[in-house]
Amino acid sequence: MIKLSERLLAVASHIRKGAVVADIGSDHAYLPTYLIQKGIIQKAVAGEVVIGPYETAKKSVYRHGVSDRITVRLADGLFAIEDHDGIDTVTIAGMGGSLIAKILEQGKDRLQHVNRLIVQPNLHAKAIREWAVANGWKLVDEQILKEDGKIYEVLVLEKGLVFYDDLELLVGPFLLAEMNNIFIEKWEAEISQWIQVLRSLENAVETPELIKKKEQLSHKITTLGKVLEK
Ligand code: SAM
Repeated sequence: MIKLSERLLAVASHIRKGAVVADIGSDHAYLPTYLIQKGIIQKAVAGEVVIGPYETAKKSVYRHGVSDRITVRLADGLFAIEDHDGIDTVTIAGMGGSLIAKILEQGKDRLQHVNRLIVQPNLHAKAIREWAVANGWKLVDEQILKEDGKIYEVLVLEKGLVFYDDLELLVGPFLLAEMNNIFIEKWEAEISQWIQVLRSLENAVETPELIKKKEQLSHKITTLGKVLEK
């Protein structure tokens, strides 16, 4: 049996029973293998763009005896999904938010029959929330967790139109409503970093770009500071 990290277990917990999953960037295919072993999903595609991890995923799927249920494909992003796969759920985990947003944007034509996206950005989740709003997807759940000293967010998206303000785009509407200890720890650390950046810019030559950057940082520090004070 595959033993998943807490991070990937969090992703797995949002997959519906009977789903047909494409796991994009699936270097060991651990997530789809776990989902098959647990009887949660029917079948899956594991997509990998790099040959080494692709071979690793293929070997792992074979070793775990799930080759008949998991197809491993060498492909860039969502181009691993083919019409006949019947994929209804896509997972993308363990990458930066900007890369995940780029993968979603470049392959969005492949999402026609997909009704749930579960993404786990290592940082910059905002890029995914912005992509979602611009492309007819809305958040239905979010999770924040800490494992081995690192904080991760999991975003669950379904089709739908929605508006989020700047703060919600930055920190996540569900995470903001919940405001648990990990959320507070994450954003207190971010605020400290922004304050350091602001200090480091104090003696820099003031260009219009620099002034704008300082204003943006100050605004984020004040807005988020007020939220965390509550
Ligand atoms: N998803 C696994 C996890 O969360 O543990 C693996 C994460 S690993 C850090 C990221 C993987 O995504 C790498 O194997 C990388 O080759 C793959 N990757 C990066 N860009 C990709 C793309 N455009 N299409 C498919 N795979 C990609």
